[in-house]
Amino acid sequence: MKRVFATISIIITLLLILPTLSLAAQHKVIRVVDGDTIVVTYKGKYEKVRLLCVNTPESVHPDKKQNIPMGKVASNYAKKRLKGKYVDLKFEGPIRGRYGRLLAYVYVDGVNFNLELVREGLSPYYTKYGLSQKYDKEFREAERYARKQKLNIWGDPELTQKYLRLKSKWGQYKSTVSSSPATFQTKEWKYVASKNSKVFHRPDCKWAKKISSKNLIGFRSREEAIRSGRRPCKSCRP
Ligand SMILES: [Zn+2]
Repeated sequence: MKRVFATISIIITLLLILPTLSLAAQHKVIRVVDGDTIVVTYKGKYEKVRLLCVNTPESVHPDKKQNIPMGKVASNYAKKRLKGKYVDLKFEGPIRGRYGRLLAYVYVDGVNFNLELVREGLSPYYTKYGLSQKYDKEFREAERYARKQKLNIWGDPELTQKYLRLKSKWGQYKSTVSSSPATFQTKEWKYVASKNSKVFHRPDCKWAKKISSKNLIGFRSREEAIRSGRRPCKSCRP
């Protein structure tokens, strides 16, 4: 009778533990490089992760002039939140960027840390490589909140000016997040343009093919292209 009881209690214990094991975050944070870059364990290796849709001010840039006090604030914040923790990674589009780093949303304690950085005013919603596919609305809201509350970057008039200038350069109408070659991106784009030109094209236009991948941007609809302030090409008549 005692044996039966012991067996039952072992089974119950296992049933209680198993779900929490499978829910536990997967990747240990080995190092916080700065506000938007960390090193985690991934498939048995140490891998650098660049957080998607954020770009915190620099704190460890080789060009020391680029390092500003706000960079240190962001870096310290990330250290406080992530150091020694287990996190989950959520990918979107290609999982690696141009330097071989993983590109991901980092979840800590079930919270999207990328969004948290924007909500804390430690990063703008970074759209240089495209909008967030999964959380565009959330990022916009987080940034609106941080600006309204004048948190960190948005509490510093000089930094605010700098980031607003950059944001207008990144544009709001680029296609989805991707840092892979242009050929990959154009599949999702109905129309394309050079970021330095006021004209947009069909992707198969002879002029579109002359745009270097560095300058190529895309639109998912004609309306999106028009809203960016561009006019249709006279040759391909998009
Ligand atoms: Zn054209």
